Amino acid sequence: MSETFDVIVIGAGPGGYVCALRAAQLGLKVACVEKRATLGGTCLNIGCIPSKALLQSSENFHAAQSALADHGVMVKGITLDLSRMQARKEEVVSANVKGVEFLFKKNKVTWLKGAARIARPGVVAVDGAEYAAKHIVIATGSESVPLPGVEVDETRIVTSTGGLALDAVPKHLVVIGGGYIGLELGSVWRRLGAEVTVIEFLDRLVPTMDGEISKAFERILAKQGMKFRLQTKVTGARVEKKTVILSLEPAKGGKAEEISADIVLLAIGRRPYVEGLGLTEIGVARDERGRIKTDEHYATSVAGIYAIGDVIAGPMLAHKAEEEGVALAEILAGQAGHVNYGAIPGVVYTWPEAACVGATEESLREAGTAYRVGKFPFTANGRARAMGETEGFVKLLADEKTDRLLGAHIIGPDAGTLIAELVTAIEFGASAEDVARTSHAHPSLSEAVKEAALAVAGRALHI
Ligand SMILES: Cc1cc2nc3c(=O)[nH]c(=O)nc-3n(C[C@H](O)[C@H](O)[C@H](O)COP(=O)(O)OP(=O)(O)OC[C@H]3O[C@@H](n4cnc5c(N)ncnc54)[C@H](O)[C@@H]3O)c2cc1C
Repeated sequence: MSETFDVIVIGAGPGGYVCALRAAQLGLKVACVEKRATLGGTCLNIGCIPSKALLQSSENFHAAQSALADHGVMVKGITLDLSRMQARKEEVVSANVKGVEFLFKKNKVTWLKGAARIARPGVVAVDGAEYAAKHIVIATGSESVPLPGVEVDETRIVTSTGGLALDAVPKHLVVIGGGYIGLELGSVWRRLGAEVTVIEFLDRLVPTMDGEISKAFERILAKQGMKFRLQTKVTGARVEKKTVILSLEPAKGGKAEEISADIVLLAIGRRPYVEGLGLTEIGVARDERGRIKTDEHYATSVAGIYAIGDVIAGPMLAHKAEEEGVALAEILAGQAGHVNYGAIPGVVYTWPEAACVGATEESLREAGTAYRVGKFPFTANGRARAMGETEGFVKLLADEKTDRLLGAHIIGPDAGTLIAELVTAIEFGASAEDVARTSHAHPSLSEAVKEAALAVAGRALHI
């Protein structure tokens, strides 16, 4: 045995590296195995961080081209230097992944470089060496879901990884999948000048979001020039020279047609990634969708082996993985770690942003819960007007009898930041009235949140 640890975490994404850091903080001897050349997982290398870097850069380009003129800022001769934009993205990624390496050193977490296999309970093999651990944590994340008939080459037909690294703006980008990754990357390339068509099997975008937000989202993005083909399925793709020809059909079946693109982005979802871990051999149970089954303490069906993050059930989000990493480290250290799954926000970082937490109107109706709705549009918010960002609204859902906040949904400027207040409110079990009676700085976008809370009781002031 090369070395013995209290905890070996497999995978250094936001679930794994945060779990390793927290376990080390709590005095455990920790190693984290990562096969990628850099730490930080999907999120830092090919997910959240590079996508947000490009979203910011493309937003700046777009503002310089159009929105600034409205403010009397006249910019002439704007050109796009895509290679500089991509280089900046790489710099942002590099700073972040190096930050995790620094944190590992600071907290004395050993990085075992290479691909891990669980040789047997209590033993992890990495490139021929074996390491013993009291606890093994699987945090190996997820990968893009393939679509039969649409073969990814990361050049013409790309996943988000290739979609983040294009070296030219496509003339026509077809995005398969109207989820958050498709809409974010679609927005990036749309702002940089591509014609963008999004093809979605279902009858709405981002189906986990509140239906009203989904509809408003579609309308706002369509105004920005994005085209949508809902209730449509892609049945195949062929590449002819520099063109990809996709075959489409109505989702329920019907007349087939073709659409051509120079780049196709496949973004129909992600699935758990467990390749090479040896789970079948050691008997770690998985569910019908390939996710590792765990109990409420993240224990798998094999004693001493745990799993967190994208590889288990729940929303595939970095902050969800992080919360699980912290909770599990605390459980392993003998404390009482816990995650409140009712208070995990979801944000789509388009502009405007769309953000949500808790119940949707659809889920409340389905559960038969009586609720009240409070809504407030950004058109009636002074700060939003000053910014020239009046698209969207805040929508709060509260229990009809107790007034307890059950869900919050925002589409509008900085929705991803505004939602944090409502996540805290839900975490604290606040009522809509609690939010309504809290002073909010003027003039701020957050006043729209306060007004929506007032609107739950039918007493919004500024509308
Ligand atoms: C384009 C894109 C944009 C996204 N944007 C957001 C966003 O804005 N906000 C958000 O919350 N989420 C976002 N996500 C999702 C987010 O990236 C994931 O939810 C998150 O990374 C999951 O963390 P994780 O720790 O479970 O796994 P991952 O981050 O996937 O990390 C798993 C790590 O395990 C390593 N690994 C796998 N197998 C082995 C092995 N056998 N041995 C050693 N190492 C191994 C992998 O190399 C990888 O580094 C985005 C994802 C994508 C693709």
